[in-house]
Amino acid sequence: MSNHSTSNDPHDIAVVGAGIIGVACALRLARQGLRVVVIDQQEPGHGASFGNAGHLATEQVFPIADLSILKRLPAMLMDPMGPLRLDWKYLPRALPWFMRLLLNLRPVPFQRTVAGLRALNESSLGAWQRLLADIARPELLREDGSLLVFERAESRQAIEALQARMRQQQVPVDFWQSEAIRQVAPQLSEQIQGGLFFPRTGHFLDPYRVVCELVDAAKAGGVQFLKQQVQGGHLQEDGVALITDQGHVNARQVLIACGAHSAKLTAALTGKKIPLDTERGYHLMLPHEQHRLPFAVTSLERKFIMTPMADGLRLAGTVEFAGLHRPPSMERAWQLHRLSKGLFRRDLNAEDATPWMGFRPSLPDSLPIIDRVCEGKVLLAFGHQHLGLTQAAVTAELIAHMAAVTPAHGLPVIEPYRLDRFC
Ligand SMILES: Cc1cc2nc3c(=O)[nH]c(=O)nc-3n(C[C@H](O)[C@H](O)[C@H](O)COP(=O)(O)OP(=O)(O)OC[C@H]3O[C@@H](n4cnc5c(N)ncnc54)[C@H](O)[C@@H]3O)c2cc1C
Repeated sequence: MSNHSTSNDPHDIAVVGAGIIGVACALRLARQGLRVVVIDQQEPGHGASFGNAGHLATEQVFPIADLSILKRLPAMLMDPMGPLRLDWKYLPRALPWFMRLLLNLRPVPFQRTVAGLRALNESSLGAWQRLLADIARPELLREDGSLLVFERAESRQAIEALQARMRQQQVPVDFWQSEAIRQVAPQLSEQIQGGLFFPRTGHFLDPYRVVCELVDAAKAGGVQFLKQQVQGGHLQEDGVALITDQGHVNARQVLIACGAHSAKLTAALTGKKIPLDTERGYHLMLPHEQHRLPFAVTSLERKFIMTPMADGLRLAGTVEFAGLHRPPSMERAWQLHRLSKGLFRRDLNAEDATPWMGFRPSLPDSLPIIDRVCEGKVLLAFGHQHLGLTQAAVTAELIAHMAAVTPAHGLPVIEPYRLDRFC
C-alpha cells in the first residue's frame, strides 16, 4: 500500500476502509469507470474481514438475538466462557445500545429486520458469483451448503421449529437424520442426532485471501490504495475533504466503510450520531486439521461454527461486548477447542493453533447502513454485524448503483438500510 499523501486529488470517490466491504465496493465502483482511492490505516483485510468464519450464511435471516434469548440471558452472562460475554466495566457504554436492541425485538421491528436481512441474503450468492467471475476466481467460494447439528434429544423440537420458521421465509432447508450426516461427514460423533442442511449456502476457503484477490483486481483496474488513518473531514462545495494523519485527500464523493470504526467519520461528515457498537468475536485456526468436514458445520447447543479452509479447520464464534479498546481475552478463542470435544469421533488437534479476535460492526436492529446522503457526497456501507462477508458483494452492487445516480434523478433509497432510521 502506498504512503503517498496527496492534495487536490482528482478522485471521483474515496473509500475509507479496506475490509471486505470497502474493497468489494471499490472494485465495483472502478468497474463503472470511476477513479477510486481506498484509504486504510492498516494493510487491506486486517480488520474483521481477516478472520471471520468464512460462511456464506444466506440462511441467517433471523437476527442473533430474539425474545427467547431474554430468559437465558442471566445464566449466559454469568458464565465467563459462555457464548455471550459482557465486560461489566463496558456496561454503561453499552446500555443505550442494549435498550435499542430490546426495542427492536418487538414484533413489528423484528419483522422489519427479518425482511431486511432476507432481501440482502437472497441476493448474496448471485452477487458473489458475479464478483468472483469478474476477478476470475470462482474457486474461492465452495457452494457446498452448510449444516446446523444438534446433539440432545430435547433440541429436536427447537430445530423443527426453526426449520418451519425458515421455510416461512423461503429459506431452502432440509432436515437430515443422523445417518445422512454420518454418510457425508463420517468424522462427526455418534452423539449427533440430526440437523438442518442449507443447500444455498457455502464457505470461502480463505476470507483474507478473498480480500487480497479483490485488492489485486482493483489495483489492476486503476484503484489507488493509501495507508493512512482518516481522522476527520468536511463537506465542500464540490465534494469532500478528508483529513488524514498524513495530509488531505479530496474527492467528489466518499464511501465510509470502516466497519466497527465508522461512527466518528459518519458524525463528522453527516452530523448524525449512530448507535454503532461492536460484537467482538473469536476464532481458533487449527492448521493440522485439513479434511475433517466437507462443509461448514454449526453446533446448535455449543453455539459455534467449524469451517474447513485452505489452511486448516477454523473454529469461530462467541459474542463479547467490551468495545473497541480493551485487549482481547484470547482464552475465549481457546475455549472453542474445548467446546469441540465430543463433537468428533477423535478430538481435534490444536497443535500450532492460532487464536484471533475481530470486531463485528453491529447496529441494534441487526441491519447494516447502506445509504447515500449529503446530496450524494457521502455514501455509507457498514454495520453488517455477523454477515459482512455474506453481504459484501450485494452491498457493493447497491453502492455502485447509488454512486452512479446523480441527485437530479432522485436518490435510490433502500428503505430498511437508511441512515435516518436512527436519527
Ligand atoms: C469471529 C467472527 C466470525 C465471523 N463470521 C462470519 C461469517 O462466517 N460470515 C459472514 O458473512 N460474516 C462473518 N463475520 C462478520 C464479518 O467478518 C464482518 O461483518 C465483516 O468483516 C465486516 O467487514 P468491514 O469491511 O465492514 O469491516 P473490517 O473488515 O473491520 O474493515 C474495516 C477497515 O476500516 C479500517 N479503518 C477503520 N477506521 C479507519 C480510519 N479512521 N482510517 C482508515 N481506515 C480505517 C480498518 O483498518 C479496517 O481495515 C464474522 C466476524 C467475526 C468477528
